[in-house]
Amino acid sequence: MSDDRLYETLHWKIGDVSITRMVEVILRAPIGSLFPDEDPAELRPFHDWLKPNFLLDDETMALSIHAFLIEAGGLKMIVDTCAGNGKNLPLFDEWKNLDTPFLENMTQLGFAPESIDRVMCTHLHFDHVGWNTRKVDGGWVPTFPNARYLFNKTEWDYWKDHEDPYESGALEHALLPIFDAGLVELVDANHRVNDEISLIPTPGHTPGHASVLIQSGGEEAVITGDMFHHPLQMAKPGWIDMADVESTLAEKTRIEFMQRFGDKPATTVLGTHFATPTAGKIVSDGDGYKFES
Ligand SMILES: [Zn+2]
Repeated sequence: MSDDRLYETLHWKIGDVSITRMVEVILRAPIGSLFPDEDPAELRPFHDWLKPNFLLDDETMALSIHAFLIEAGGLKMIVDTCAGNGKNLPLFDEWKNLDTPFLENMTQLGFAPESIDRVMCTHLHFDHVGWNTRKVDGGWVPTFPNARYLFNKTEWDYWKDHEDPYESGALEHALLPIFDAGLVELVDANHRVNDEISLIPTPGHTPGHASVLIQSGGEEAVITGDMFHHPLQMAKPGWIDMADVESTLAEKTRIEFMQRFGDKPATTVLGTHFATPTAGKIVSDGDGYKFES
């Protein structure tokens, strides 16, 4: 698949709510990088829907690092702020010392940083909080000065005492400056943002992980966060994802999520790291489920 397609800006309309996907960077990740204990050959029966969008020709996983920009009832919101520039991030070469025009691209799409009303981080891993701040004169300041940043209280309670095992700087660079600026609103995992947008608890990947539910005009979309890192987890919800903090709970959450949102034609699932086309439906497939995009 060409890079252009992986990086294109995508738009969806759910009732009166508009949602835009803006990509920061694409990772080509070997299956073993997230699932070191699992056998990729077990995925062969699912290649017909995993390829070519989610598993590339060389059977690496396409992982898209992107933000969702939402406009609902006059409110502008960004869900997950990606990785950020100039950081020595781990595991993959593609995101080491990024230098992307992330904020300029937001502005071009009608979401200038100062126009953002809410920032929502599905969880507090470094690739979901990176643009919470930007570097000015050697210090880290909030990127979205007029926003309230919504963090799940359970999630913060965990990470304030635990270093992100993959990127120890996220707390200091991307979280504490937001607290210092008085912009954080600690919310519960069922928080309602406005008439159309609410959070739903999806714990396991991290203890206070939350997904985002959008309902308008009889339609519905749900932003997964990293409850699913990759669509292959719909076929293999029990595969141990090395980035999940609590594996057993993560599996239970994935299964319950598919039971709740699967086989519902009016529900669009938007994957936080799902490559183009990113959006699809969860549908029954034998004993389990698949992602139909
Ligand atoms: Zn992530």
